[in-house]
Amino acid sequence: MEIACLDLEGVLIPEIWIAFAEKTGIDELRATTRDIPDYDVLMQQRLRLLDEHGYGLHQIQEVIDELSPLEGAREFIDWLRERFQVIILSDTFYEFSQPLMRQLGFPTLLCHKLEVDDQGRVVDYLLRQKDPKRQAVISLKSIYYRIIAAGDSYNDTTMLAEAHAGILFKAPDNVIEEFPQYPAVHSYEDLKQEFIKASVRDLSL
Ligand SMILES: [Mg+2]
Repeated sequence: MEIACLDLEGVLIPEIWIAFAEKTGIDELRATTRDIPDYDVLMQQRLRLLDEHGYGLHQIQEVIDELSPLEGAREFIDWLRERFQVIILSDTFYEFSQPLMRQLGFPTLLCHKLEVDDQGRVVDYLLRQKDPKRQAVISLKSIYYRIIAAGDSYNDTTMLAEAHAGILFKAPDNVIEEFPQYPAVHSYEDLKQEFIKASVRDLSL
């Protein structure tokens, strides 16, 4: 039995914070862990900026609602779900991803959570666990599933290493160079082919 584990941002949907920054014009929200390596400092800054600009959860979701999955993502995920059990492993938050997950037909998603007060203000965030993508793969292996994983960035590499087969999709050049052990592809058609190759079943029909 095989499970396909997929990263979300950069693989099926745009980077939510960057897209949100573009939609709202709040430039400081474009900062990522590349600019501020301490994730907690980065998240506290994001929450402060949302507050300052008067964005509660409802307004945030309205903006995110106007975003679309990457072109071809819905067709790809439908293709994959016909052939594998699919689980999305992401470092996003359920409350942010909801509008985009709706457009993808709500595949199973394991990610983090926001704490929102009665007024809809985002007051804090709760990480699911440490190294969550790898831990999810470990737990699925413990019930004897074979795991094929695909992601685009550094936060996916422990998941790819733990899986039986790992694939880089739309990864930047530095990630591809640093992890030459994984096939690297850039289109959904090629990603399908990599899943077919990585599977121990005959999926060529
Ligand atoms: Mg990603």
